[in-house]
Parts: sequence; C-alpha cells; structure tokens
Amino acid sequence: MRITHVECHLIKVPGAEPPFVWRDGLPGSSPDTEGAVLRVCTDEGPEGVAFAPRHGRIAQEVVDRVLRPELTGADPLRREWLWHRVWELDRVEELPLYLLGLADVALWDLAAKAAGLPLWQLLGGYCTSIPAQASTVTFPTVEEYLDVADQVRELGYTSIKLHAWGDWRRDAELCLKLREHVGDGFPLAYDGSAGFDLPDAIRLGKALSEADYLWYEEPMREFSVTAYQLLAQKVDVPLLVAETSDGAHMNSADFIAAGAATAGVRTSSELRGGITGAMRTAHLADAFRLRAEVHGPIIPHRHLCMAIPNNTYYESLIPANPARREDCLDAAGLLHAPTEPGIGLPPGLDYPAALREHAPTG
Ligand SMILES: [Mg+2]
Repeated sequence: MRITHVECHLIKVPGAEPPFVWRDGLPGSSPDTEGAVLRVCTDEGPEGVAFAPRHGRIAQEVVDRVLRPELTGADPLRREWLWHRVWELDRVEELPLYLLGLADVALWDLAAKAAGLPLWQLLGGYCTSIPAQASTVTFPTVEEYLDVADQVRELGYTSIKLHAWGDWRRDAELCLKLREHVGDGFPLAYDGSAGFDLPDAIRLGKALSEADYLWYEEPMREFSVTAYQLLAQKVDVPLLVAETSDGAHMNSADFIAAGAATAGVRTSSELRGGITGAMRTAHLADAFRLRAEVHGPIIPHRHLCMAIPNNTYYESLIPANPARREDCLDAAGLLHAPTEPGIGLPPGLDYPAALREHAPTG
C-alpha cells in the first residue's frame, strides 16, 4: 500500500459558549477559530484522518511544506519509520509540539480502519470503560467551586481535578476547603498550569499533602527537571509531570530518572508525538510502576484511555456553571470504549464533502 495524496482541510471551530477562564495570566477559552483535518489517501483505498483543533493555518503550512513531501509515496503501515522521520525533520524545523503527532494519528486511524477495528483494540485493548475525572476551569470564588463539586458528584463523576487561580495562598485555601467539603477519601487532584516558581510550588504542595490530594500536576513550567526533583524532595503529595515538555518519552524518562514523577507522567497524542509517542510514554512509566495519566478530552484520548493499563481517568472538562456531564459519559460517570473502526473526528463541526465518509454520523 502506498500513500497517493495528502490533503489538509481548514475547519471552523466555534469558541466555548459561554467563554471560560484559566488561571491569572493565561488566556481563557479560544474565540471562534480554525482547526484542520489532515487526510491521507492510499492506492488501495484505506484512508486516515487526524484533527488539529486549533492553529489550522499553521497545520496547513506544515502539511504543505513538510509532511506532504515526506508522506507521499510512503507505505502508510510503516508508522514507526514515519514517526522517526518526523523527529528527524524536527531537528531543523522545530515543529510545534501539537503537530509532531498529526501524521502519526492519521496513520493509526488508517491502520485501524483497514483492520476494521476501533483504535483502542488495535492498540491491544485493556479495558472497555473508565471513570471520568471532572476537570474544572477556573471559577471566581471558593463557594462556586464547592457548588460545582456538588453538581458534578450528582452527575456521576467520581473524582475532581481543580484548575484554580495561580495564587498559592488562595489555591491552598480552596484545596483545603474542597477536601473538607467532600470529605476524606473522595479522589481530588490539582493542576497548577505552570503558575508557580519553586518556593511557591513547595508552599502549595504542603497544603495538597495535608489535604491528601491524589496528585499535584504541573505546578511549574516543565523546562527544569531539577526544579521538579527538588519539589519532589520537599512535598509528600505525588507529582504528575511532563505534560507539555518537548521530546515525548525521551523527556518523560528524565523526569522519572530524577525521581520527580512521584505519581507518574502525563501522556497524550497531542503533546507526546501522536499515538506512537503516547503509548511509548505509557509503557515507559509502566516499567517503573508509575501512572501515565491521559491528558485532555479529545477523541484519540478516548482510545488511549481504553488501551493504557496504568491510566486512572478520562479527563472530562467542566467548562461552565451550571455543570453538564459530557455527552460521551453515562450516568455513573463512565466513558465507554468507542465502537466505530478507526479513531473518529469530533461531532458537530462543518466538514467539507471530501471528509464526508470520515465525519461522525448522528
Ligand atoms: Mg494538565
């Protein structure tokens, strides 16, 4: 089988309604924007697609100039070879992290469609359902977080992760009050979205240890492995690290070797170089008996959640108050394994005719 042509389609992606915010200093939800779909076609019929939810024009430029020449004429089933080629090209290109895996996702989609299997089964198939973790955006007051916590528990969610303000004193107070509110034993986690330096990350980490949080995620930018190593030596709460750093499993390995990944590492197709990079990262962590928690609620990640044994939750965003349960979850807050062959594109977007056979139905 050979790749005959490669297309990149710009897709309108509506902004969140209502818009939401993250911690102080970060931009909030995107306004209406453009994403892109990469479509890989072959001489024998099977096709693969991959969706980039934003930066569509950047994706298009990278496809036109870098990926199309590399993919055209190649065997689409040599994903491993093509994955290494992307890293080789990255040496000169310094590709955006979120595009390192775009071709890989399309090639896995193609292979899964050719096999007539949903991706998670082609990856080995570990489980058929998994609990969702309610992952909040940033709300204005402690009271509103407690109200949202009550709502998501009512909706079936069995764990909550906070994104808060990025002020260590306020965030520590929120984390302690939420623990008091939900009681001992309910799984809580905290995500700092890289809002702190080391001294403040230590101060906040002590509160999270006291409140028995399941994990403390990305309190600092993930450039200095040493800063995370020092943090791990100072706080008891387990650290979940290496979500956004470059270098896929090769970088995650350094966090683990430094003793900084005391809960484990983040993995994703989005920031770890596609499905191939996400699975490598998961297996690396598994070898050290660590978690590889799947980051973010995108469709390829629903497959990863069913294929990675050392993952606990599907991260389900709660973007507004009143809270809503994501449509893909059942009343018990469980995500069930996808059933259609391939990976799948997100529903509700306006796809061009060329992508009709890949667009979700219903
Ligand atoms: Mg995160």
